[in-house]
Amino acid sequence: MINVIEHADLQPLNTFALPVRARWLVTLTNTEQLPDILALPQFERQSVLWLGGGSNILFCADYPALVVRMANRGIRLVADDGVQVIVEAAAGENWHEFVQYTLEQGWCGLENLSLIPGTVGAAPVQNIGAYGVEVQSCIEAVQCFDLESQQLCWLSRNECSFAYRDSVFKHDRQGRYVIVAVRFVLSRSFTPQLHYGDLAQVATELAQGQPLTASIVAQAVCRIRRQKLPDPRVLGSAGSFFKNPVVAAELAESLLKQYPTLPHYPQPDGQVKLAAGWMIDQCSLKGYQLGGAAVHEKQALVLVNKKQASAADVVALAEYVRNCVAQHFQVLLEPEPVWLPEVLPHAAG
Ligand SMILES: Cc1cc2nc3c(=O)[nH]c(=O)nc-3n(C[C@H](O)[C@H](O)[C@H](O)COP(=O)(O)OP(=O)(O)OC[C@H]3O[C@@H](n4cnc5c(N)ncnc54)[C@H](O)[C@@H]3O)c2cc1C
Repeated sequence: MINVIEHADLQPLNTFALPVRARWLVTLTNTEQLPDILALPQFERQSVLWLGGGSNILFCADYPALVVRMANRGIRLVADDGVQVIVEAAAGENWHEFVQYTLEQGWCGLENLSLIPGTVGAAPVQNIGAYGVEVQSCIEAVQCFDLESQQLCWLSRNECSFAYRDSVFKHDRQGRYVIVAVRFVLSRSFTPQLHYGDLAQVATELAQGQPLTASIVAQAVCRIRRQKLPDPRVLGSAGSFFKNPVVAAELAESLLKQYPTLPHYPQPDGQVKLAAGWMIDQCSLKGYQLGGAAVHEKQALVLVNKKQASAADVVALAEYVRNCVAQHFQVLLEPEPVWLPEVLPHAAG
């Protein structure tokens, strides 16, 4: 029996803590409930929202249809050849707790992705990444419920079409796939990935002369993240609000003539990735507040719910930031979180 809550409060279910409601809310705790959910009179495939931890969503208004919160749990070891393990986690598992669990078992690979809010099931959706690692590097396959065939299926890593903050799940026709579990391939030996920012330095400090381990790297990542990023339990946000834009080489070249210190990263396809946070900072927007929403004082890429922000405050601030950056740099920033309903055009940088 599925419990359908009408006009459900979504404020505790989105990390921006915006005061919005869902027309109907159900919580899925077991994959076997899916047929019952699909049979609900409120279920409409085109409009249903499959919700994880609400840490990558900007609710611009009340959600006018059914929201299904993914809360199925379970972690199991699928294979272990002494060198690598394959471990499967249910979509509703908390991401950071899962990473911690893998490290406690001595399985390496996810340490750089510690402390990212949200669920395991949402991790492949935008191919979460941090400190030089993307989750795709550890994904073996993703188990989905295919709403078209109404069957469970597995998508291999290749079939997921992972790219920077992107995957097939962002483009599947009308929300075809519900992710129910993810299989990871992790290693029993540790290969440090320390090339990003000050990670090597902080990890070395924490190691205090002892050999570096994956757990120490995870601790270093947590320490850096806690210094730079707001804790959503204290200050609402959706993490990085804009993607780093990838622009044509000619535009990057002309910008670099004007702004020689602009951080830039040439891409394999000849385009150049630029640092969105740096560009926002150059517009002197750190700490800038509109209504209850503000640009985070420590990290310009993060918009925060400073004081009981409404959805309209965040939308207005995002548009203001976007316009400032466009005027300064001729680059249109693309938001990272999912906007519901989508009110900003998603532009290619
Ligand atoms: C403080 C902070 C820091 C962050 N840092 C990072 C970071 O370093 N790197 C990074 O990549 N992201 C980061 N994020 C963004 C966010 O944590 C990730 O995108 C995370 O994976 C979202 O998980 P979620 O469960 O909250 O997804 P939600 O926000 O609930 O959903 C996001 C999208 O995924 C879809 N979805 C969720 N679950 C499923 C499912 N089971 N099946 C199908 N679709 C589903 C939703 O419909 C929605 O479209 C940060 C966010 C915050 C608040």
